[in-house]
Amino acid sequence: MFNAKAYAAASATSRLAHTQIKRRDPTPHDVQIEILFCGICHSDLHMVRNEWSSIMPTVYPIVPGHEIVGRVAKVGPAVTQYKPGDIAAVGCLVDSDGTCPQCKASLEQFCPNLTLTFGSPDKHGTAPVTYGGYSDSIVVDERFVLRIPSNLNLAGAAPLLCAGITTYSPMCRWGITKGKKVGVVGLGGLGHMGVKFARAFGAHVVVFTTSPNKKDDALRLGADEVVVSRNADEMQKHASSFDFILDTISADHDINAYLTLLGRDGNLTLVGAPAKPLAVAAFALIMGRRSLSGSNIGGIAETQEMLDFCGEHNITADVEVIPIQKVNEAYERLVKSDVKYRFSIDMASLKSE
Ligand code: NAP
Ligand code: ZN
Repeated sequence: MFNAKAYAAASATSRLAHTQIKRRDPTPHDVQIEILFCGICHSDLHMVRNEWSSIMPTVYPIVPGHEIVGRVAKVGPAVTQYKPGDIAAVGCLVDSDGTCPQCKASLEQFCPNLTLTFGSPDKHGTAPVTYGGYSDSIVVDERFVLRIPSNLNLAGAAPLLCAGITTYSPMCRWGITKGKKVGVVGLGGLGHMGVKFARAFGAHVVVFTTSPNKKDDALRLGADEVVVSRNADEMQKHASSFDFILDTISADHDINAYLTLLGRDGNLTLVGAPAKPLAVAAFALIMGRRSLSGSNIGGIAETQEMLDFCGEHNITADVEVIPIQKVNEAYERLVKSDVKYRFSIDMASLKSE
């Protein structure tokens, strides 16, 4: 084992602060990565503050971070796809059983024995739970390491590992192509990636935001129209007209206001994960045979497919690069929806701690 620098929270009410953690020495199949950038996902914040306690109670200390880009420092002798010096990435998953029907279908994100990048029991016993990307290094099985196309900016590529795949996957599943009318609700980390993908797939894209000051950015990011969702008249104009709506809101909200904007057989996919259950009006679904579904990140193969798509289409997140010392401030801004449109931590800043 070796020591790594990291930022951790000691309790649901603690600030994130510098600490030292243990990482395992690479086993034969492991890749040891020096982390260069790590995006800040709202899920990091939900977990740090134990907001999902009823489903996934947080084990402290927690080292969050699952949008990781770095440089390979060392590889185990059985590793075939990576060598020291390569750029490599890690998303939300670092292991799964590889044998269950979900893994066999390349849907490792639904494996009953999956290991999340942070907060899952550590099968290697290095620590009680896995520690994520707010750190200067990570050691991951080669099967869960991904490649970043060489033309992409690394700070902007990091958020693709969660915000990217979480929005790309449901759009592929629901067949978003030219001619479809797609709504993206919430213009944060996930939402702004959703806009970029819907645009790249050729859809007509409408952004729903509670922040009027994000209107110009929404258009610049690729939206055809922007609706300030607090304006009932503007909402009404889109009644029963959408093929697909992606809901990325991180907090409690009225989902019926969006379900009723779907056309016949339209689908709303929830990727936002508010702590409290949402109330669904039966008639919002019955009328028009509409459907409501959810989606959880994506499997490893689809994540690589998404990264390659981003390489071909030159897609990265719009990031505000911050030193890790500003992470608590960034969390406060996330809560206020003040994010443009993903924070990406420059891990070089951890060297001074
Ligand atoms: P984010 O960057 O904080 O963006 C969330 C956006 O939601 C905000 O920017 C805001 O957009 C809108 N919003 C926030 N509070 C709201 C409220 N009270 N009412 C209406 N709109 C509100 O968060 P994120 O990182 O994109 O994550 C979004 C959610 O997805 C989180 O719950 C996260 O845990 C979840 N998530 C799920 C998956 C998955 O696999 N399903 C993966 C990653 C994240 P406007 O300013 O435009 O209104
Ligand atoms: Zn995430």
